[in-house]
Amino acid sequence: MKFVPIVLLSFAAILMACDHDKNASSTATQTKVPAASDDTAATKLSLPPDAGSSPAIDSTRAFQYVKEIVAFGPRPLGSANHKKVEDYLLAHLKGDEVENDTFIAGTPEGKFPVHNLVAKFPGTKDGIIVIASHYDTNYPLRKTSFVGANDGGSSSGLLLEFANQLRGKTREGYSVWLVWDDAEEAIKPDTEVPFLDDSLYGIRHLAEKWEADATLKKIKAFLLADMVGDADLNIEHDSNSTPWLEDVVYEAATRVGYQSHFFARTMPVDDDHIPFMKLGVACADFIDFDYGYNDVFWHTTQDTMDKLSPKSLEIVGVTMLETVRILDKMDPLPPK
Ligand SMILES: [Zn+2]
Repeated sequence: MKFVPIVLLSFAAILMACDHDKNASSTATQTKVPAASDDTAATKLSLPPDAGSSPAIDSTRAFQYVKEIVAFGPRPLGSANHKKVEDYLLAHLKGDEVENDTFIAGTPEGKFPVHNLVAKFPGTKDGIIVIASHYDTNYPLRKTSFVGANDGGSSSGLLLEFANQLRGKTREGYSVWLVWDDAEEAIKPDTEVPFLDDSLYGIRHLAEKWEADATLKKIKAFLLADMVGDADLNIEHDSNSTPWLEDVVYEAATRVGYQSHFFARTMPVDDDHIPFMKLGVACADFIDFDYGYNDVFWHTTQDTMDKLSPKSLEIVGVTMLETVRILDKMDPLPPK
């Protein structure tokens, strides 16, 4: 994924441009998202009553999955480790309904097989909520020890835990499809090829496929998890996501008591949700783009397990499942 704008508002109100992005086209400002009880868009949503209990996940087990994925080492597209992680994910989804979306992607470095995995868990209600995470690691860093503990690892382990929670029952609500998408990372550095022309290969393919076979019409929301394990967790208010769905996410975070970890900062992020946004699906990106001071661990060999915490997986996991639970009962959902 990638920062789009990159303007941070410091305590001294000094605007500081960050040099991650050479193509900044807009600005982001730090904003406080008001509580849902204020006169905001959230109050205009038809929200169901608070269930009064939080969804549960086993964050110790989720953290263990992250450790095991990261232990394979760097898993860039086309590598032996990448195949091992695919097999690891499939082994944990044994017995589940899994759609394998495999194709050959043409990239600036040649052709690569790309492999998206979709585990489908049925609900009683007509419609699908997609929860996605990429599992590949950064390609330009393939010859380093970069393991993407947070970037690709954290969210992929969390989704395996979601599968545990969803397995073996028909949920009261929408079907939930978990997507481990591939080839999210750019093949060439952004300075050589624009990010959106050379990244998101797997999820772009899935979005197009689901548009062609009309699956897309059934998708009520697309929730994305990316870089969700940082022990110092600050999920961004992403202005590239769907505003009403971001309001629902904040409401969910508030209901489960984790709102202090959400939306201290507003910024647009280019990530796996963009192809679905372009096709009119409501999307929310759960991403913490403040990984180490000034994001210093992002896309470096310092993105390792010691920076992560099971508590952060708990915070994001429970908030995502609460978001799904609220969406189940919002009828009708706002226009996309
Ligand atoms: Zn990355």
